[in-house]
Amino acid sequence: MGKIDIFTDDKLYVANTYARFNVAITDGNGCTLIGSDGKKYLDFATGIGVNAFGINDEEWKDAVVEQINRIQHVCNLYYAEPQVKLAKLLCERTGAKKVFFSNSGAEANECAIKTARKYSYDKYGEGRYEIITLKESFHGRTIATLSATGQDAFHTKFAPFVDGFKYAEPTMDGILKCYTDKTCAVMVETIQGESGVNVLDGDFLKNLEKFCKERDILLIIDEVQTGNGRTGYLYSYMAYGLEPDIVTTAKALGGGLPIGACMMFGKTEYTLSAGDHGSTFGGNPVACAGAYSIINRIDDALLLEVQGKGAYLTENIKRIKNVTEVTGKGLMIGIGTTKPAREIAQKCLDRGLIVLTAHKRVRLLPPLIITKPEMDEALKILNEVISE
Ligand SMILES: *Cc1c(COP(=O)(O)O)cnc(C)c1O
Repeated sequence: MGKIDIFTDDKLYVANTYARFNVAITDGNGCTLIGSDGKKYLDFATGIGVNAFGINDEEWKDAVVEQINRIQHVCNLYYAEPQVKLAKLLCERTGAKKVFFSNSGAEANECAIKTARKYSYDKYGEGRYEIITLKESFHGRTIATLSATGQDAFHTKFAPFVDGFKYAEPTMDGILKCYTDKTCAVMVETIQGESGVNVLDGDFLKNLEKFCKERDILLIIDEVQTGNGRTGYLYSYMAYGLEPDIVTTAKALGGGLPIGACMMFGKTEYTLSAGDHGSTFGGNPVACAGAYSIINRIDDALLLEVQGKGAYLTENIKRIKNVTEVTGKGLMIGIGTTKPAREIAQKCLDRGLIVLTAHKRVRLLPPLIITKPEMDEALKILNEVISE
């Protein structure tokens, strides 16, 4: 094989499904990423909310390497301790009763959708299978989770989609318009990440919970992006005192390795039984060992820090000229400006700051361990780019 040119060979050989920025990331340390040309970048994207403890996180690396040195994969027909340890920790920290492990956020949501339908099938028989999701939501890229995603733009090219999803405005009126005697669940993100860091109203969430409880409709919270400390709470629903029936998560859970989790609370504890669901790689011991070291360190002290850092960034971003609004919670921040978001992201990149976009907004998902000097550096660059 000849010499690789990352940029031209990527276009030649890798499916062109991503609108990549013209940078290759090769290394990193803490909250800094290093490009193939040696240039340093301050990381306010964490690989889309994944590397929450930064790069070269020693505790996570130790946990992962220790497990690799023992065994890299165990099939799910046998018991394996890393999976049990992580499931127990997640249950203790959330009150969930059972955890199903997958490899991604979309798959965690697939499990939630199957669990909700099975719960209803077991109790009410056939036909009660509809799930209400919200307009502007994002739940994944598989056919079922695309079907669950409430954005028309995703519903054109890959028909036919999965039947049984209805898209509501994020109000009780909106929910009532979609509700029928076939409704078995409602699935929401408390903050819609991909569609602009749209924060749902807390009263709406509480009313929705009550509405669901009264009708035995399952409340599913998609915490794939908002979870694992991102919003200043271990899971964002905790900020509202909600009692969901199913919570899904992924992204930061694995600290950089692929893992997703579908957490089943009281009502759905025994819904899935042997043969109902499965995954070859789901609950991989290396991914689980890494995830354990992540969740185990997201304690109250860290969560308070995340809240403080989020408030500091938000206050200072609000002061920047041409910023029209700042949305989000904790270290999940959306910035509305008078300029195109992609242009801002490109200009930040040129100045050594990596940020994300989400529809019309600039989106920040910095590492939870970001420091004050690093936040000040990012604010300086954001100020230069947005106010110019
Ligand atoms: C990223 C994301 C997903 C999909 O996760 P994948 O790991 O890419 O499958 C689902 N829901 C939400 C809210 C997300 O942010």
